[in-house]
Amino acid sequence: MNDLPRIGLGIDVHRLAPGRPCMVAGVRFDADAGPLGHSDGDAVLHAACDAVLGAAGLDDLGTLFSDRDAINKDRPSADFCRATMLLVKDRGLRVLSLDCVLETETPKLKARRSEMRASLANLFALPVDRVNIKGKTGEKVDAIGRGEAMRATVVALLGPA
Ligand code: MG
Repeated sequence: MNDLPRIGLGIDVHRLAPGRPCMVAGVRFDADAGPLGHSDGDAVLHAACDAVLGAAGLDDLGTLFSDRDAINKDRPSADFCRATMLLVKDRGLRVLSLDCVLETETPKLKARRSEMRASLANLFALPVDRVNIKGKTGEKVDAIGRGEAMRATVVALLGPA
């Protein structure tokens, strides 16, 4: 059954707080506010890991890397991606593509989209044309629209290594 493609979905929300570093898809933004979290709070990478882990039939990110474990405090989320990729490889699988949406009022993503794509491609061992990231505002609706939080949604396709 390992020769059939597998799809996975990951969703992650982080509150935004003034003075926090702002990491998005492994890229640091100069912003007044950043995602609150036990790790660096990179919602795109968390959702991407959960999408990949889900497609591989593995435990979710919160189970593998508990936010109660001191070792994960302020940890770069790139570490979670590397660990996720090792687990995927162990299962005889690889990531074939990723599509990401980040809903947030800040920071504005457009000017750095290619940097974020390159970062995701590097972390998930993909050519750049097999990973995408789109920014959406919250249209002034709900907590995201008010700039209180950001939400990442990622779909991952996996296949045999
Ligand atoms: Mg998270």
